[in-house]
Amino acid sequence: MSSMMIRCPVTDREVSTAIETEPSVFRMLPKVAALMHCPACGQDHTWTVGSAWLAGEPRLVDEIALSKVAAA
Ligand SMILES: [Zn+2]
Repeated sequence: MSSMMIRCPVTDREVSTAIETEPSVFRMLPKVAALMHCPACGQDHTWTVGSAWLAGEPRLVDEIALSKVAAA
């Protein structure tokens, strides 16, 4: 099991969503938005599977996708 990670748009730090899943499951998750309380900045962030990645796994998103999320 690996933790799903997102990048905090406020601190630009990688933070865990506290959701753990298998890579095979992660790739099949629907692209829905979820809300999480960010441990890095203390705010709530909306994130999607498309902007998340698994800790220790190759990144599935590129920096362009990340910058779109950060600007939203
Ligand atoms: Zn944050």
